[in-house]
Amino acid sequence: MRYVSTRGGMPPARFGDILLEGLAPDGGLAMPQQWPQVSAADLEAWRGLRYADLAFEIVSRFVDDIAPDTLRAMLRSVYTEAVFGSADITPVSMLESGLHLLHLSNGPTLAFKDIAMQLLGALFEHALARDGRELNILGATSGDTGSAAEYAMRGRRGVRVFMLSPAGRMSPFQTAQMFSLTDANIFNFAVDGVFDDCQDMVKAVSADLAFKRRLAIGTVNSINWARLLAQVVYYFKAWLAVTTGPGQRVSFTVPSGNFGNVCAGHAARQMGLPIARLVVATNENDVLDEFFRTGRYRVRHGADVHQTSSPSMDISKASNFERFVFDLVGRDAARTAALWREVDAAGGFDLGGTADFARVDRDFGFVSGASTHADRLATIRRVYRDFGVIVDTHTADGLKVAQPWREPGVPMVCLETAKPAKFAATIREALGFEPPAPPGWEDLTARPLRFASIGTDVDALKARIATAAGVTLPA
Ligand SMILES: *Cc1c(COP(=O)(O)O)cnc(C)c1O
Repeated sequence: MRYVSTRGGMPPARFGDILLEGLAPDGGLAMPQQWPQVSAADLEAWRGLRYADLAFEIVSRFVDDIAPDTLRAMLRSVYTEAVFGSADITPVSMLESGLHLLHLSNGPTLAFKDIAMQLLGALFEHALARDGRELNILGATSGDTGSAAEYAMRGRRGVRVFMLSPAGRMSPFQTAQMFSLTDANIFNFAVDGVFDDCQDMVKAVSADLAFKRRLAIGTVNSINWARLLAQVVYYFKAWLAVTTGPGQRVSFTVPSGNFGNVCAGHAARQMGLPIARLVVATNENDVLDEFFRTGRYRVRHGADVHQTSSPSMDISKASNFERFVFDLVGRDAARTAALWREVDAAGGFDLGGTADFARVDRDFGFVSGASTHADRLATIRRVYRDFGVIVDTHTADGLKVAQPWREPGVPMVCLETAKPAKFAATIREALGFEPPAPPGWEDLTARPLRFASIGTDVDALKARIATAAGVTLPA
């Protein structure tokens, strides 16, 4: 298996070459040269597999530069009942006939990002040890991503994590979850500023190429191919859970922000998994819903991004969307590059009325819908009343948007992306009470916190990173 860039400017690369990278050198995103195919017989043979071994069957089709035994052992060490709370890792429950929840939030930080990030931790450790390298991951977070990264990298050899977050602006639960970590390779910085200040500091450090190279600064953002690959597995797991035989079709609804999660569903469908529809659910930040309804992709300006009660979907653009468009335009890299030049120059593009856009639903099964704060509250109430289940705000967006796309005979699987305890204030608004803390988290807000308060001075941040990494900077 080789990987190419969506913009055509990268020589075919192996998995190990793109693992630690962000954007391809030409500004595009890495994609497998072709989608490996899975037959109906393969699927039937996989029905009895445990999660880690199912993951091996899928991941090994994309990774041929890690020894199979090593890869299998790695997957078995990551996808354990101890880490994910159940032997199923991603269990499926039924709300009513034809409507299912795929539970992705049973990992260490109670959000679906754990599933990919935990594997990334193992892959990074393996690659760095093999090459005798170290990596200093620098990131900015307003909540879920930073937390998932820290829990995945804690205690791993060769990796340090430096995570900036806006002081006093994360939920008490998210703050305690991150700042209570005491591992020597995890560094939390509470920045006296807002999230954008944190992100600007990360950009400023990365823009200093000499420093970046000297300190081996890396990221773990959502465009990382390995994260997407890890997420393909649970679409197969869910299909196996709700079907009984070959060829049965299943639809999925995915609460979407950066298009990473639903892009993994697209990968599964391209590999031959019998998926009827992939329903993209957005909140008030409806960049993706607008595209899938009209063909117009329009990046929002910072001021036009709504702060919502499903904050992990508050995006101005969808960073993984280019991967789907590459497939949509028949893998024409020149065309994809031209479309993203339009994004840079004019803030977007319009495929409405084109032959390509006609394929979105017909050939790729994509449809969409958007949800509002009022919809979230109503859905949380309805699901609690009808099924006795408390869902978080992002999952509620999915359940709302899924409703009109349900078809007789085609199970609809909605992806549960976070635990409601992370968004307790909105649950209280909907139900009048806060959800109980999940098992193991009852004492969270009483744990001692370890973090450093810093200002927005970039040189001071660089000095702290260098000290922690044991590197002396030139004066
Ligand atoms: C990250 C996140 C999303 C959005 O996922 P994408 O892969 O960015 O589309 C949805 N829900 C929750 C809870 C998240 O943390």
